[in-house]
Amino acid sequence: MKITRITVFHVDLPLEHPYWLSGGRLKFEVLDATLVKVETDAGLTGWGEGTPWGHTYVPAHGPGIRAGIETMAPFVLGLDPRRVLDVERAMDLALPGHLYAKSPIDMACWDIAGQAAGLPIADLMGGGSRTPRAIASSVGAKTVDETRAVMDRYRQRGYVAHSVKIGGDVERDIARIRDVESIRLPGEIVLYDVNRGWTRQQALRVMQATEDLQVMFEQPGETLDDIAAIRPLHSAPVSVDESLVTLQDAARIARDGLAEVFGIKLNRVGGLTKAARMRDIALAHGIDMFVMATGGSALADTEALHLAATIPDANCHAVWACQDMLTVDIAGGRGPRNIDGHLHLPETPGLGVAPDEDALGAPVACYETP
Ligand code: MG
Repeated sequence: MKITRITVFHVDLPLEHPYWLSGGRLKFEVLDATLVKVETDAGLTGWGEGTPWGHTYVPAHGPGIRAGIETMAPFVLGLDPRRVLDVERAMDLALPGHLYAKSPIDMACWDIAGQAAGLPIADLMGGGSRTPRAIASSVGAKTVDETRAVMDRYRQRGYVAHSVKIGGDVERDIARIRDVESIRLPGEIVLYDVNRGWTRQQALRVMQATEDLQVMFEQPGETLDDIAAIRPLHSAPVSVDESLVTLQDAARIARDGLAEVFGIKLNRVGGLTKAARMRDIALAHGIDMFVMATGGSALADTEALHLAATIPDANCHAVWACQDMLTVDIAGGRGPRNIDGHLHLPETPGLGVAPDEDALGAPVACYETP
């Protein structure tokens, strides 16, 4: 089987509500999504998606995905998409780094490989837990009252896991954490996501002031060096997210004991192939995981769900899905959807969901074998 055509679509995905990170430092209103259709000489078609969370969140750039695919396409055309490692190597040789540009191609290849095998991607990867995965909400708010309002909105949709965005003013962060903990429901999972918004001194002030609560903080500093420096000075569990980009990062976090949890975002780490290796490092070191789309449509949510289904139930805290945050649905309601705050693995071979092509508009690029 050979890849014969790669068609690229650009879609804007507006957020239903303006979204704030780092205590209001960063605002987001629309996501730049790239959808990729990979066709083969065997008649199988796979879909991939790359949707960074804007271009101010991490070094990832919507137009950069499309430029990266233009550079990599000649090296990917003609390859067998079922040999995902060959495709990965070809992309890494054609364009070192730029992992976020590679994830849509990787995703589409896994989609085709699953269809060819007659298996959902998670089963093909050797996992395939059917235990529904809790969806973590994303509570981008600034004040105590706004935080309560956003959490209530998600609770009404059945959500039992929440990623509360903090990382602004120290006193306000402490007040918001204490307030959320005071209204936290039994069994609810709450992660306090700093998104790199603290200096070391700010991190220690909040983490030490809330030590009695033993809550988990995600990415409490800009870099792994920052997280390592404060590590001996607080007792809170830590999840690392934005600083977990490469397999070498995963190895360092595990070896140096920098976190209890990996936050694996598929677009950031370069797709399922590379993320599966991080999963194995985590499992080998007693590190649990959140698995997330970086953003995007139900396709990106489904990709994350497949990886989550390859993690033992006890080690997968939640997935994050972006679908409930958007005003447009390019998959017309198909694919795994929020049911009582959980996503259920699709039984369809491959990814299990494709976009409604009419909803994508005209392609912005098409690359073909001669
Ligand atoms: Mg995070």
